Amino acid sequence: MNFLEERIIKDAVVKPGNVLKVDSFLNHQMDIELMDRMGEEFYNRFKDAGVTKVLTIEASGIAIACSVARCFGVPMVFAKKSKSVNIDGDVFVAEVESFTHKNVNKVIVSKKFLKPEDKVLIIDDFLANGCALQGLISITESSGAKVVGLGIAIEKGFQIGGRVIRNLGYKLESLAIVDEMDAEKGTIKFREQ
Ligand code: 5GP
Repeated sequence: MNFLEERIIKDAVVKPGNVLKVDSFLNHQMDIELMDRMGEEFYNRFKDAGVTKVLTIEASGIAIACSVARCFGVPMVFAKKSKSVNIDGDVFVAEVESFTHKNVNKVIVSKKFLKPEDKVLIIDDFLANGCALQGLISITESSGAKVVGLGIAIEKGFQIGGRVIRNLGYKLESLAIVDEMDAEKGTIKFREQ
């Protein structure tokens, strides 16, 4: 088991509805040393990709993306959830269905912060059905920039997102892939990587 898998076994809670709760170390209270270890791990996996920008989506991807961006020495940009219906032409927009909240958000990134010459590493905390990643890919590609990789802390391998993104030909690296989890027994099984 790697350091993240060990932490998941120690502190994560399996909830009904295929939700893994990690709020004691990843997305409410945050273990910053763990964030920095994940940053270094993603740096090692993507260091030859020529990354110029790290892109994530608010809110829970931001902390991991900060650590990754610091390792690469590049800016981090996060897609903002926008309530505004009339979105002006200064932003790239995508619609993202939230797995946890079951609603659809418009997310935006200012055109100032993604340029055609950028090589973008997309980072997020979880991968379930892949809507968040597809939105971030769509925003990146609308800017003319290139997606050079995607890094996920926890992929739920029994949901379709990972397969969809890999089938599209992107390099997707997940630090932990959960293949099975059981809310009643509280058990979690990881994919061997
Ligand atoms: P997707 O868009 O791939 O369906 O879902 C990914 C997004 O939903 C992530 O940004 C994450 O915030 C949230 N998410 C999906 N599954 C889980 C989960 O099991 N636990 C938590 N805490 N968040 C999740």
